[in-house]
Amino acid sequence: MTGPRVYELVAERATSESGPEVRVWDRLAELLDPNRYRPKLADYVEIREFSLRWGNDYVMVANTHHHWDHVGGNDRFSEVAIHELGEEHLRAGDDLAFAGRYVTFTKELLERFAEFKALDHLFYELLADETTPRPLPEGFDPANWRIAPCVPTRLLRDGDEIDLGGRTLRVLHTPGHTPDSVCFLDEANGLLFGGDTYNTGPIYAHMPDSELEAFARSTQRIAAKADGIRRVYMAHVTRYAENAPFVHEVADGFAAIQAGDVQWEEAYDDAGEPVRACWFARFGVFARPSAV
Ligand SMILES: [Zn+2]
Ligand SMILES: [Zn+2]
Repeated sequence: MTGPRVYELVAERATSESGPEVRVWDRLAELLDPNRYRPKLADYVEIREFSLRWGNDYVMVANTHHHWDHVGGNDRFSEVAIHELGEEHLRAGDDLAFAGRYVTFTKELLERFAEFKALDHLFYELLADETTPRPLPEGFDPANWRIAPCVPTRLLRDGDEIDLGGRTLRVLHTPGHTPDSVCFLDEANGLLFGGDTYNTGPIYAHMPDSELEAFARSTQRIAAKADGIRRVYMAHVTRYAENAPFVHEVADGFAAIQAGDVQWEEAYDDAGEPVRACWFARFGVFARPSAV
């Protein structure tokens, strides 16, 4: 458990006492955005079976945006919710050009993890069970891997509420990473599920439909709600949760970018695409070379 009645749902730990309320899953975006491919989530498909064990065959998935690494398991769920601007992407199935290159990245990550773990154990002791990547699913063949088109059953708009029964998520439309990006705010518990709008590694503001200016507006808007936020959950990298000041830091970072007040350096994203990167204390931002 990583927050108040918020759970990371993976098969071997799907025995927590959360009961039918497991309709909210932790590692947030991962819970919210299932993906059959990412190694940490290799066994997320057990979510449905887990739910059935609690006598409930209804499971809703709420996507934070349409990217392939967040929607790959949508077809396993009774109801699929996404912001209205993401609908067409889900109906089309996603372009896996980026995903193909990400397979190479992931294989290297898995191959070198033992090395990383040994160093961690020798010097740092940072890694925990929940931050240990799981292997790719048995028989996984990247060449034959596709994301099935899917028709969302619920289209989300800014301000909507998702009633989970005992927990309500407020939909906050936060374009920037993509036009359809949303964050989900559990106002009663102060939990922000930030999708790819937040990251403790590089925030991807360089995707084809990313916009720095929109990012600055969206993160500023979230920062204005920071008093009601206790914890921020993110979809990527090992530090998946941060405290509330993080939302201010990210908003300030994008404001500095808009003001031309950062140093850019050349870098590459996980798929090997050249980007411009700037770094702050707890995160970074990738931008398109033509955008800065
Ligand atoms: Zn994304
Ligand atoms: Zn992502």
